[in-house]
Amino acid sequence: MADKRNINQDVCFVKGIGPRKAQMLEKLGIKTLGDVLQTYPRGYEDRTQITDIKDVIEGEKYAIRAVVGTSPNVRHIRAGMDITKCMVYDETGNLEIVYFNNKYTAAQLRRGEEYIFYGRVQMYGNRMSMSSPVHEKCSGSDTKGRIVPVYPLTAGITQNDFDKLSFAALECDISEKDDPIPESIREKYDLPAIDKAFFWIHRPENMEQVAEARKRIVFEELFLLCCGLSQLKKYRKKENGIIFENTNLENFWKQFDFKPTNAQLRAVNDCIKDVVSGVPMNRLVQGDVGSGKTMVAAALCMLAVQNGYQSAVMAPTEILAVQHEQSLSPIFEKLGIKTVLLTGSMGVKAKREALEQIKNGDAGVVIGTHALIQKDVSFAKLGAVIADEQHRFGVNQRAKLIEKGINPHTLVMSATPIPRTLALIMYGDLDVSIIDEMPPNRTPVETYAVGEKMRRRVVTFMEKQIVLGGQVYVVCPLIEQGEMELKSAEEYAKRLQRLLPHRRIGILHGKMKPAEKDIVMQSFARGEMDILVATTVIEVGVNVPNACLMVVEDAQRFGLSQLHQLRGRVGRGKRKSYCIFFGADKGQTARQRLGVLTQTNDGFEVARADLAQRGPGDFFGNRQHGLPMVKNTDIISDIQAMEQARYEADELLEESPELDEYPMLKKRIERMFEAADFAFN
Ligand code: ADP
Ligand code: MG
Repeated sequence: MADKRNINQDVCFVKGIGPRKAQMLEKLGIKTLGDVLQTYPRGYEDRTQITDIKDVIEGEKYAIRAVVGTSPNVRHIRAGMDITKCMVYDETGNLEIVYFNNKYTAAQLRRGEEYIFYGRVQMYGNRMSMSSPVHEKCSGSDTKGRIVPVYPLTAGITQNDFDKLSFAALECDISEKDDPIPESIREKYDLPAIDKAFFWIHRPENMEQVAEARKRIVFEELFLLCCGLSQLKKYRKKENGIIFENTNLENFWKQFDFKPTNAQLRAVNDCIKDVVSGVPMNRLVQGDVGSGKTMVAAALCMLAVQNGYQSAVMAPTEILAVQHEQSLSPIFEKLGIKTVLLTGSMGVKAKREALEQIKNGDAGVVIGTHALIQKDVSFAKLGAVIADEQHRFGVNQRAKLIEKGINPHTLVMSATPIPRTLALIMYGDLDVSIIDEMPPNRTPVETYAVGEKMRRRVVTFMEKQIVLGGQVYVVCPLIEQGEMELKSAEEYAKRLQRLLPHRRIGILHGKMKPAEKDIVMQSFARGEMDILVATTVIEVGVNVPNACLMVVEDAQRFGLSQLHQLRGRVGRGKRKSYCIFFGADKGQTARQRLGVLTQTNDGFEVARADLAQRGPGDFFGNRQHGLPMVKNTDIISDIQAMEQARYEADELLEESPELDEYPMLKKRIERMFEAADFAFN
């Protein structure tokens, strides 16, 4: 064992960390002392603020500085339950300290000695007590409490273990060459160097140090991300892009019985600029549910075909693929273009025929599911690739489709609206167009958040909408196991059937085969059912204009953005539409969250509220978007850091495109992207 510790040293060399604990730590992604340093506390207990005993209030956590007045007294209450109590005092009053089943800790307390106790104050009987506090002995008269980091834990690892680990890790020799952020940038933004930041985050003397360290950590994370993404973008730019010379879409627009909105036109014009540039297009179109993204996709297909190339549209579900095919093929047919559908559930013969047409080039526009990326699919001349509802696909799936052509232009479409700065970072390898305008004459969906008391009235309201000729979606309660899904949907439908015996009720759930889902969905779309009881499989993109009421059970268990997507299934036709969320009686938080949806129909606003309430981790789901995840950044409040990091990343890459002068930066970027399973070459 070396004398001086090294950041590459294995954690099992730390005293008290045996092989078993090392294994547990590995679950947290911690193998070396360097990993320990980069495992940041999730919070701090500020024990520097000492409160006088006379000032403590029930229910709050405090640090008090007090002398033990009575020797700890252990009482055996019943089997498996010991209580240890003692009195402590300071100059202002006294307090009872209580430990449950913790004779060992309590026995460390010595009568007459002074300690700092930190814990929550509660009333026991008519006595103020502090239950199970942590304590530290005061050595001199000037002893102050510490700011104690609280680490994310896994089973078998205690805060104490972490304390030991970070103590050992901070003994490592860390120098300038270990710092991925160039000094000039650190100076410009007044960021502490890496060794200082580690000390401040793991052993702060005050909360200002924590704030300084955190500022650096956030910047570092964003800076690495931005550098990596910019490099990725540049690699792509080196490739030769197909040039689509004919960009006249006049005839195409004529095929619709409505005019494109300005926002749609802007997005299409962005695409046109890309396809004539000589560099492959790599663009994200973002627009709220119902903003008309399909038309933009269709325009790109048209551009490809009129320049002698094929185009492929990949949708995340069979239902969506079929729907795209049904709405687009009549339009393309009028323009003399053949549209071909390819899905996994197609019969052998139909599939063979489709594959043939894709291969010989008869198919101008190919619409399908993941089936499109299978080995047996080969295109005659693929020039444009579109991924709909892109958050459903990983980057790798997108890449597989792209490989079916030679540097085809790529468009991804997403209905998850996020603020622009964030979009630029999260999708930093893409250019972004935002459709921020709805087609005209949409009436917003009237939204209610209700509790159980309203159930009867909601059923009556369903009946009323059906009598008026409309149709109803019901999203039934979420359940954990897939196996239970069918049962619960069926039971729910049965109960509803008893209340509305004369109505036709269908079921749609995730356990169904794609073809079965499709049959149900098509039948609902044709108006053969009044009510569709579904699990969340109707979430994305489905279009049934006659549906005018959406009822969601246990709505408080969904994310706000997800609920907004669900709501987007209604209000797609001429009927006045409604959305009713059950769950408003499930506590104040539930009521508040659902309240956001009753107040706005704007997906961007919903997304902002959602981000603020849940934090970015949940919002994006970790791997869904296939990009490395930021762990420490608060996407709402760190906007400024995002902009700075982006700017500095671009500047630095301008000066040093390969980052050869910055080996640590380069190494850290590679690690970040590797961890995200991101193809980086
Ligand atoms: P998204 O995919 O963005 O959720 P869609 O492309 O499915 O939205 O469009 C939603 C509905 O709006 C469709 O019925 C479509 O025909 C209609 N639509 C699209 N663009 C326009 C427009 N410019 N004017 C009127 N209706 C439009
Ligand atoms: Mg869509």
